Amino acid sequence: MKRLIITIDGPSGAGKTTVSKILADHLGYRYIDTGALYRGVALKAMASGLNPDDDTGLETVLSSLKMEFLYGEKGLRLISNNSDITDKIRTPEISMFASAASARPVVRNFLLDLQRDLGREKGVVFEGRDMGTVVFPDADVKFYLDASHKTRSLRRYQELKSETSQTLQNVEKDIKRRDKNDSARDLAPLRPAKDAVIIDSTHFSAQDVVDRMVNVIENKIIVVF
Ligand code: C5P
Repeated sequence: MKRLIITIDGPSGAGKTTVSKILADHLGYRYIDTGALYRGVALKAMASGLNPDDDTGLETVLSSLKMEFLYGEKGLRLISNNSDITDKIRTPEISMFASAASARPVVRNFLLDLQRDLGREKGVVFEGRDMGTVVFPDADVKFYLDASHKTRSLRRYQELKSETSQTLQNVEKDIKRRDKNDSARDLAPLRPAKDAVIIDSTHFSAQDVVDRMVNVIENKIIVVF
């Protein structure tokens, strides 16, 4: 089969990461978590003491930032200026900073080129917020994965539980704020591409969702749960 660019967009906790990994494995494709790139920018900017709306400061930070993905025994790793930052970018503080900084054109433009470069060889599943709308408008197959706010919050809470002392209420609040930031920004707001297949994962397992996706990819038909 021709090697494709497949995009999976959607809000936090919709299950994009889990589903993208299973789908990429199934197809023998690479998987790219573009949220990690925004988080990598946030980590560097926070270490420099910046506010997320400091465009001049962000520009300076970005001018010396080199990020790349490596695939090793421990899965997908994000390397930032030669250092593996994969385990440092999942904190609630980085989530909020990444969400705020992702509204800045200076950040989005910097990451746009990087993401397109990563797609040049095709055979990639890209996960993010604007993969099908902005970064790869000509992607071969586009999905928009959603779930109820309650389900998304619960999933995120389960993920964070072992690493932080966040309560479910805090996670719910954070997700609401990030949803609002991501959907309301002027540049590349979170929304389904016109030609995206929308899947609501609220009542389905990751494997169920992947099965539906594979079906869509093979048949290029619209599936509505
Ligand atoms: O997906 P993840 O939660 O890791 O993304 C962190 C933040 O990065 C999101 O809240 C969003 O603001 C931003 N992001 C984005 N565009 C993408 C991926 C992530 O704006 N393609």
